[in-house]
Amino acid sequence: MTDTPAPDLKPSFRNDVTVELVKHAATDSDVLWAARVSTAGEQSLEELQKDPERSKGLINYLMRDRHGSPFEHNSMTFFISAPIFVFREFMRHRVGWSYNEESGRYRELQPVFYVPGTDRKLVQQGRPGKYEFVDGTAAQQELTERVMEDSYRRSYEAYQEMLAAGVAREVARATLPVGLFSSMYATCNARSLMHFLGLRTQHELAKVPSFPQREIEMVGEKMEQEWARLMPLTHAAFNTNGRVAP
Ligand SMILES: Cc1cc2nc3c(=O)[nH]c(=O)nc-3n(C[C@H](O)[C@H](O)[C@H](O)COP(=O)(O)OP(=O)(O)OC[C@H]3O[C@@H](n4cnc5c(N)ncnc54)[C@H](O)[C@@H]3O)c2cc1C
Repeated sequence: MTDTPAPDLKPSFRNDVTVELVKHAATDSDVLWAARVSTAGEQSLEELQKDPERSKGLINYLMRDRHGSPFEHNSMTFFISAPIFVFREFMRHRVGWSYNEESGRYRELQPVFYVPGTDRKLVQQGRPGKYEFVDGTAAQQELTERVMEDSYRRSYEAYQEMLAAGVAREVARATLPVGLFSSMYATCNARSLMHFLGLRTQHELAKVPSFPQREIEMVGEKMEQEWARLMPLTHAAFNTNGRVAP
């Protein structure tokens, strides 16, 4: 790997995340094809478009009865840019996922940092296992923004000071916080994405509610939008059946 050109060293602050679908081979037909091979053998590809209602019913049946493997014969690759603390949670998803992340050893890390937007609920109330998040006061908002930005600036200055003195990137990066943005490619299939969405989004249709950190949920919501466009029948069946991965 080679060095990247000199980056823009002025810190910038973001309250959003980037999710782009960069590559895909994922349609509802892929599910039908895989499911019907068990009964129709080699002719199954030709049968696909013949009866849309039957196709919808079959996808719903597979989802409801948790016949999961037909949902694996497809692929979606996302480019994601989000804070490192989101990636720490993301990469806990081991099954049906492939990851490649930018390197802090081979390139100088860019000073892009996460600061929550005004719509991010700042205050946690309740006891462990049964709590909710509520809006912060204006003073808490102001404090959060100011303290985070100060802290980010100082840590990036420390990073720069070490690099300027000839210390290796892989050593100097230890000064940087988990609010720093990173980027990665993440490839999954509909089944592994559904498992991710079941855990990392909150949704009124979820049979088993989850309480994810808002920032990974922001990534999940954008991925779900892309996936719903590619596989509308599968997405609808996921919702109808309580957003539990088959
Ligand atoms: C709201 C929330 C809070 C969390 N809090 C914490 C926390 O405080 N600390 C923490 O460490 N993690 C935490 N996690 C991470 C969580 O424990 C999981 O690591 C993460 O959600 C990935 O889920 P998974 O293992 O089901 O996914 P995957 O790794 O993608 O696995 C998918 C499925 O494959 C099967 N599987 C995979 N690996 C194995 C295995 N080794 N043995 C048997 N079956 C396997 C399981 O059925 C699993 O559900 C949290 C997750 C959520 C959603």
